[in-house]
Amino acid sequence: MNKEQSERGNVNDGGMLLELDHISKIYGDVHAVDDLSLTVPQGEWLAIVGSSGSGKTTLMNIIGCLDTPTEGTVRLEGRRLEDLNAGQLADVRKDVIGLVFQKFYLVPHLTAAENVMVAQYYHSVVDERQALEALDKVGLKDRAHHLPSQLSGGEQQRVCIARALINCPKLILADEPTGNLDEKNERIVLDLFRTLHEQGTTIIVVTHDALVASCAQREIMLNHGVLVGEKWNSDEARAQYEAMGGRPASTDAQVEGAQHGDLPVDFNDPTKTAKTGGDVR
Ligand code: ADP
Ligand code: MG
Repeated sequence: MNKEQSERGNVNDGGMLLELDHISKIYGDVHAVDDLSLTVPQGEWLAIVGSSGSGKTTLMNIIGCLDTPTEGTVRLEGRRLEDLNAGQLADVRKDVIGLVFQKFYLVPHLTAAENVMVAQYYHSVVDERQALEALDKVGLKDRAHHLPSQLSGGEQQRVCIARALINCPKLILADEPTGNLDEKNERIVLDLFRTLHEQGTTIIVVTHDALVASCAQREIMLNHGVLVGEKWNSDEARAQYEAMGGRPASTDAQVEGAQHGDLPVDFNDPTKTAKTGGDVR
């Protein structure tokens, strides 16, 4: 780190909520994430695409403070995560981040409202009224006292989103949130994300689905842990990002057989291939 960077300390200049600086996650010979740099401003809706095993979940776990990179630095709101102790990291997880997974991880013997209240519990406030409000936002107030087994897959995913929303997170991290849903429920979830985005929430969503990805303002594509493409879907968001000094996402690592500087790739083919290839992760 140079002098200018170390003097910067905790100051979050540039309005970037998230800054990944040359991060890698290495398991033996596998570079699950390979030398990736990315900055995400407050309020952006970003999609991460790529086929199975390309490192999407690993990257999300690092951003969500569930895992640490082998190399590189992660800053959230200007604070370097590696400088935080376990208690401070737990606070970041509960105060800043809302997680939505493909697998629902609902407690089977608790009702929808109680499952939402589990998230509140970690905030030391348990308020059924707030839990019901959160369920209302996702269109499930009349299902609040049902058990997960009495809910459809789409309804269970909406309970998970209500659970993620209960603490008003600045950042929603969603890993294949529509992976198990039919088209109708996919649309409901996307509409919810759209509303959250309009309210200023930053959203990072991992998806195989080209349609889901196209709703985001920007898409990045991973292949074997390497960033192989970046595409903006909103010229306005791009202009804003550049005006605030945002840099293109980048990697110094290379995909086998690819020439350095190959960005951007065609986003449609790999996602389609991945979709028909099927990801069981
Ligand atoms: P994706 O979510 O894109 O399907 P992952 O992030 O789950 O990909 O995995 C990326 C690569 O890292 C894969 O090759 C996977 O086998 C490997 N990997 C992920 N987690 C571990 C782990 N805990 N130990 C060893 N290898 C892992
Ligand atoms: Mg995954």
